[in-house]
Amino acid sequence: MSPAPSSTSSAPQPLAPQPSAVPPSSDTSHLPQREKTTPDAASASKVKPARKPLLRLELRDLSDDGTRAFLRLLHATTALEDAVDAVLKHLYTGLKSHCIPPTRSITLVLRSMNGVAYTTGRDIDEDHKEIHLSTDYINHVPDSRKKEEIQGVIVHEMVHCWQHNALGTAPGGLIEGIADWVRLKAGFAPPHWKRSADGDWDAGYERTGFFLEWLEATHGAEIVRKINDELRGCKYESDEFWHKCCGRSVGHLWSEYKSSLEDGDSKQPDDESI
Ligand SMILES: [Zn+2]
Repeated sequence: MSPAPSSTSSAPQPLAPQPSAVPPSSDTSHLPQREKTTPDAASASKVKPARKPLLRLELRDLSDDGTRAFLRLLHATTALEDAVDAVLKHLYTGLKSHCIPPTRSITLVLRSMNGVAYTTGRDIDEDHKEIHLSTDYINHVPDSRKKEEIQGVIVHEMVHCWQHNALGTAPGGLIEGIADWVRLKAGFAPPHWKRSADGDWDAGYERTGFFLEWLEATHGAEIVRKINDELRGCKYESDEFWHKCCGRSVGHLWSEYKSSLEDGDSKQPDDESI
């Protein structure tokens, strides 16, 4: 038998809580660095900011087939870290540190529920986020697409953990469109997504996501970062907002986008128009 721990120490053991496995946020020097940032001002415009929020995984039912599939197909740490990196890269490259919301922790909760997924802040502190992902939904996705679909949904929800929303006044469709634009840029667009200008520009999801992709092509690579940053700390007012970002109204931009799709569609063999 090994000796009792107290026999090896002359001092009484303190009753203070044991240190957490989580390092203080100010000391991450011992952690592996995915990407080294440089203080060099000249290259600042190209730097992707690094953030190391506390990441957690909560599995409500280990016997659920959706939970089993998640554990079989993904490495949770990598999936969450990669999603954080994708969001920071696409929304905050070249922007100053204070432009990024102070998100401190993200908990991915896998549980049985209706719908696909949603993101919420914790009551106690909005800087702590929870992504709830439905195991029923995971079960419903064909096996051949399960892994990519889970990754895509996590990236979409991760955007909600870090994006600005004009103090809650931004159109919901723009918020969802930015989330799907990042998903698209991260390479997780599902095969059924299609460019379309039916309906309004803020129909949301991939409809608005592809519109943002077109804005990127026509107004420069920084445009979605600019749109997100303009949603920081002030209320949304459509005319002022879009003129500031793109120099014209969003209605005008949407018409131009529609025309560009019609021009493109005329070259498609399955196009129904003359
Ligand atoms: Zn969403």
